[in-house]
Amino acid sequence: MDLSKINIQRIEAFWLKPNKLTLDVLRLDVMHPQISGNKWFKLKYYIEQAKANSKHTIATFGGAWSNHIAATAFAAKEAGLKSVGIIRGERPAILSETLISAIENNMKPIFVPREQYQNKEALINAYAGEDWFWIDEGGYGIPGLKGAADILNSVNTSDYKYIISSVGTGTTLAGLVLSSLAAHKVIGINSMKGNASLSGQVNKLLPAQLQDNFTIFHDYHFGGYAKHPPELIDFINAVYHNHQLPLDIIYTGKTFYAIQDLVHKSYFKKGSSILMIHTGGLQGNKSLPGKVLAF
Ligand SMILES: *Cc1c(COP(=O)(O)O)cnc(C)c1O
Repeated sequence: MDLSKINIQRIEAFWLKPNKLTLDVLRLDVMHPQISGNKWFKLKYYIEQAKANSKHTIATFGGAWSNHIAATAFAAKEAGLKSVGIIRGERPAILSETLISAIENNMKPIFVPREQYQNKEALINAYAGEDWFWIDEGGYGIPGLKGAADILNSVNTSDYKYIISSVGTGTTLAGLVLSSLAAHKVIGINSMKGNASLSGQVNKLLPAQLQDNFTIFHDYHFGGYAKHPPELIDFINAVYHNHQLPLDIIYTGKTFYAIQDLVHKSYFKKGSSILMIHTGGLQGNKSLPGKVLAF
């Protein structure tokens, strides 16, 4: 993990010019080739807590292509801890690249049928005899919030009017709200379809005075969480071709698309500066057959 690699990429695009907009991308994806930038930030205080409580094993939940699973395995190993991943669904005949890399990082996967997976409390109870430190799916929770708030500490954000990030559990968005300045508008792009409770989930992590201090757009899911129609793939390839910016199919591709669409709809105030957080997630692109993406 190399935080010194984090940098800002200026996007020079013709579609920004009519409204004199500036678009910068905070490249958290370059911290590590496999570990999702925001996931590492969300995990760091959980890992600290686990160590302070003398736990030797971190346990958490996720799907076969989960960025959170990949990041937890890596972060635990880096901290000298063991990890257990409760994985949604039966063990497949061929393991995903994500699981292969998690296992290489010493994570022990436990596969549970989908119905059983829904009941996290029952699963935690089933392993109550183990001295494991549990982290919620996606790192949702106050330590995750605090870690995500550190994302903006790596840059001077005072020139930006808009801070934009992809949203899953909402932990990262809440962290950005917590560390944003009063003049910022914090915007989230929901990659899931029909998750009406999302704003509530974000607010639950925030102090009262910061609640609802953000906007979430729900119309850029491209059909749903794991959906990646050709239109999205073509868009991601075009962005790579034009700007050498690699995006992932679940989160950041949809977010960049949303920014361009909102620019076309004149959503952003003329002359303003936008900062997109590239939350990483590129390891998930390995779920695609080779040659679909240009990078
Ligand atoms: C998990 C993830 C998100 C969503 O983060 P939340 O804190 O769960 O909202 C966004 N982008 C990428 C690349 C992710 O892996």
